[in-house]
Amino acid sequence: MNTIASSRSAADAARLPLMLGELRLPTMKRLWADLAEQSNREGWPAERFLGVLLEQEVNERETRRLARARIDSQLPPDKSLASFDFDAVPAISKAHVTALAEADGWLAQGHNLLAFGPPGVGKTHLIAGIGHALIDHGYKVLFVRTSELVQRLQAARRDLRLPGELAKLDRFDLIILDDLSYARRDQAETSVLFELIAERYERKSIAITANAPFSAWDEVFPDKAMTIAAVDRLVHHATILEMNVDSYRRRAALPARRQRSATTTTQ
Ligand code: ADP
Ligand code: MG
Repeated sequence: MNTIASSRSAADAARLPLMLGELRLPTMKRLWADLAEQSNREGWPAERFLGVLLEQEVNERETRRLARARIDSQLPPDKSLASFDFDAVPAISKAHVTALAEADGWLAQGHNLLAFGPPGVGKTHLIAGIGHALIDHGYKVLFVRTSELVQRLQAARRDLRLPGELAKLDRFDLIILDDLSYARRDQAETSVLFELIAERYERKSIAITANAPFSAWDEVFPDKAMTIAAVDRLVHHATILEMNVDSYRRRAALPARRQRSATTTTQ
């Protein structure tokens, strides 16, 4: 290389980190120097060098996006479908859940997902597991305890920020309202929960876990008419997962307790 060419390439090299920083390409900024050296040493065609570098940026960007979506979702981190024991709930088909977890069109159409059953049967775990899988497929999911969301929306309404808060929730393809039947109706005439349900109706999906059947939801909404209107909207396009088995928690605890008492008797 003559002196002019080598000083040109040194000048290019000096500008590259600045330009890559400006363009927000942190992975390329980190990797380009080593890759350029390897590429020069091994005589790569320019297309290959550029391709390898861009591929790394694309991959890391996807990884960062997934990590951010997972944090934004507030999903309980350990409740995945991989750790869910389907044998414990024979009424729930693993194939059906797998299809739901791959989105299978229902999210695009704003359909809902409702899981019912007594405490401890795995409603939260199953729905959270579907949520994690949907994030892997590129969807935006939010997991909230219903009572907390209701309080947040009520505060927003007091400060006349409710439309803004609802708009913020609109960026989620799926909102998981955990323990809906524990939410208590608010004093105002129109429940914020009803507004959320009405707003998303036939547009964006909601998933719900609930211990109590619809008939007990009068405690959640201000009056019977609104309960009926809310239930209508939720079930119009919905998959319902009935999980009427024994508490998984209790069953998981039983063998351990038996073992413990067995140990005690032999001592
Ligand atoms: P629910 O929401 O119905 O009250 P959870 O999802 O909170 O129940 O389940 C209670 C506990 O038992 C959690 O720790 C959960 O991870 C575990 N669990 C429940 N069902 C299963 C299952 N089928 N496989 C694995 N763990 C389960
Ligand atoms: Mg639960």
